[in-house]
Amino acid sequence: MNDAPARFPSDDAAISEAAAGAVLTIDLGAIRENYRRLRKQLGGARCAGVLKADGYGLGAAQVASALMKEGCDIFFVALLGEGIALRKAIGAGPDIYVLNGLPPGSELEAVAARLCPVVNSGAQLKAWRAMAQGFAHGLPAAIQVDSGMSRLGMAPMEVEAVAGDASAFDGVDVRYVMSHLACADEPRHPANGQQRLAFERLRAMLPEAPASLANSSGIFLGSPYHYDLARPGAALYGINPTPGEPNPMLPVVHLQAKVAQTRKVEKGAGIGYGHSYHAQGPLSLATISFGYADGWLRRSVSAAWFADVRLPFLGRVSMDSIILDISALPAGRLAEGDLVELLGPSQSVDDAAGHAGTIGYEVLASLGSRFHRRYVGG
Ligand SMILES: *Cc1c(COP(=O)(O)O)cnc(C)c1O
Repeated sequence: MNDAPARFPSDDAAISEAAAGAVLTIDLGAIRENYRRLRKQLGGARCAGVLKADGYGLGAAQVASALMKEGCDIFFVALLGEGIALRKAIGAGPDIYVLNGLPPGSELEAVAARLCPVVNSGAQLKAWRAMAQGFAHGLPAAIQVDSGMSRLGMAPMEVEAVAGDASAFDGVDVRYVMSHLACADEPRHPANGQQRLAFERLRAMLPEAPASLANSSGIFLGSPYHYDLARPGAALYGINPTPGEPNPMLPVVHLQAKVAQTRKVEKGAGIGYGHSYHAQGPLSLATISFGYADGWLRRSVSAAWFADVRLPFLGRVSMDSIILDISALPAGRLAEGDLVELLGPSQSVDDAAGHAGTIGYEVLASLGSRFHRRYVGG
């Protein structure tokens, strides 16, 4: 293999357009514009970027570099492994916080990658404090409190316990006290105000530090929710942070699948696995090289689009293919190799999520790994 030609296609880790069944275009310029819009909404508060699950499926490293050009220097990932990979990709500058906390015994790995844990329990605080004893200037961390979501963070009783222990934070440089909102996408939900009050009460017991509460939707709950640092993810990626109202964000993803074959069938033809659909009359069909292995949920009742024409899915979604009804197009208009749209101007991420009974977050996080990926606007 050593003397293979240097430009042999497989030398490139990326999948070429010719080799892929679908093309995923990610508009880094739109992500940057969305970041600027969120900053504007925030007024004076700082704005981090949440890059968990590989930047909601869009590429944490690429998204991070785009955000860094906007001056963003604080990132959040969910897992230690994600933090280590992101640190390798973006270098030493920005702070990277690990939302789910550090598994016991992994503190040294986190230090080696210059990651900051989000400390979610008294035990995690103890472990980080112990690690910090070896460092003259201590070690940075964010402390998360559970203000009412019951998911991650120190419970009120734990906060009270560490508040009564004068040495609990020895060597721990508390950069932020944070919490997470359960119902921020429902502005009238009473839990929002209750969580904000609980957050106030809990953070008053902890070492004085900047505060962080709002995710994307939280930013749109207004300035009482902004504090010192916001942590948007979804809105950066074009998901509507204000469901039920016009999307204040720009769309970011364009997903197109390639036609593998077209055919005509007669009335009565069984279509796809299980013959769950039979042609009601003669039909023109196109099969695209795209299926549930690419993250499109099998249960979705959906359509692709071509030149503003809706092309409904017929029959079941297969692993690597979907059959479209293209009878609405002039004969021969769509041919093998042409691209149809699954996400983009005709069908937003939120629309697609609606057709699948899920949320935009899941649509993005499910996106597969065998697309030809194209980054534009960086
Ligand atoms: C995922 C997450 C965010 C970002 O939420 P979005 O709704 O995507 O903006 C912020 N904070 C925490 C703790 C999270 O888990």
